Amino acid sequence: MTLIHQALSDIQGSLEQFGASLYVLHNNPDDAFLKLIQEFHIRSVFTNNDYEPYAIRRDEQIQKLLALHDISFHSFKDQVIFEKNEIVKSDKTPYTVFTPYSKSWKEKFNQHPPELFPSENLKDQFYKCNFTLPTLEEIGFEETAHDWPSSELNADAIRHYEETRNLPYIDGTSRLSVHLRFGTVSIRDLAIKAQKLNEQWLNELIWREFFMMILFHFPRVVTDSFKIKYEKISWRNDEEEFKQWCAGETGYPMVDAGMQELNETGFMHNRVRMVVASFLTKHLLIDWRWGEAYFAEKLLDYELSSNNGNWQWAAGCGCDAAPYFRIFNPAEQARKFDPDFKYIRKWVKNLDEGYPAPIVQHEFARKRALEVFKRALTEN
Ligand code: FAD
Repeated sequence: MTLIHQALSDIQGSLEQFGASLYVLHNNPDDAFLKLIQEFHIRSVFTNNDYEPYAIRRDEQIQKLLALHDISFHSFKDQVIFEKNEIVKSDKTPYTVFTPYSKSWKEKFNQHPPELFPSENLKDQFYKCNFTLPTLEEIGFEETAHDWPSSELNADAIRHYEETRNLPYIDGTSRLSVHLRFGTVSIRDLAIKAQKLNEQWLNELIWREFFMMILFHFPRVVTDSFKIKYEKISWRNDEEEFKQWCAGETGYPMVDAGMQELNETGFMHNRVRMVVASFLTKHLLIDWRWGEAYFAEKLLDYELSSNNGNWQWAAGCGCDAAPYFRIFNPAEQARKFDPDFKYIRKWVKNLDEGYPAPIVQHEFARKRALEVFKRALTEN
């Protein structure tokens, strides 16, 4: 919350130079707009496109309300490079596999690079007003001592992205997810930089859009597996084991370190997100929706499309997912990506004393998962 409040305060500061200000309302969207319509003479409303089912419904509803009052509604592309039907297959249907989607995305990007808008002289274009921005306390929040990651791209780290991105004990990724989530960085600016700096990192930005467009074209993924057959899996859904996973007490250091990092900071390194998600869905056979919901509650960079897409990827049921028989060995993942236990020791404090025994044996869990998945997927 402090990040959003800070971003709004910065906007307020810029608007003050033009004798203008933000006007903050706390209400449901319909009532808030009714209030605005009564208070001001409004001719047009401008916003940016959103691809989540709730946001689409909300904006349609507001557009109808505005039309009743003869107010025009304009919505623009902003948070992605390409949207909706801009990147589709030759038969005009959406891509559901990442590699051809990203190839087509890059071709189009090379042909039509996005424009970066110079800041024009907007002085006379603002409505003159000076509303005050409510403080955090006034809206019921407390200042947190969060060390927010910078919104500046560390070009040096990105140049070496391939070598560093899987190592959770170093700062080898951009840490821009929270800024991308809240729109405090420009995706156009980042994509142009990514193209020059590192294609692998550009791919990550494309994954973000890929999942946004999967959600847009297939909103049923919010509740259902993209691959319908996976709905037949008999999840064990053991509540006690779920609690142990949430608390980072599974007895698998890499899993526990990830969950501790998440619980303490609201962030988890991508490699570790994959490990904990695979562990929950395969080793514990707990429905991916439980893990998705826990991440949604804890992650500061929580984004419905990316969270849902990646959870479905990890469980095997997503559109372009890891095959069900790919089951990460958490001990092997630790050996490979955190060989000196630097990341693990940072987050798991009781490793040498009082550390729990593994909640389930790896080999047993692997075989059990293979059987359960195979049974569900080969049933008629
Ligand atoms: P970098 O490695 O620097 O990547 C740059 C940007 O590319 C990220 O900020 C993000 O916007 C995008 N990106 C990178 N990897 C992915 C990916 N696999 N899928 C989609 N976009 C990606 N990311 C979120 O932004 N919100 C989520 O709610 C979210 N939930 C996830 C859940 C699971 C189970 C997994 C495995 C991954 C999830 N991710 C999510 C993707 C990824 O873990 C984070 O985007 C990344 O760790 C953020 O760190 P970064 O900004 O340093 O990433």
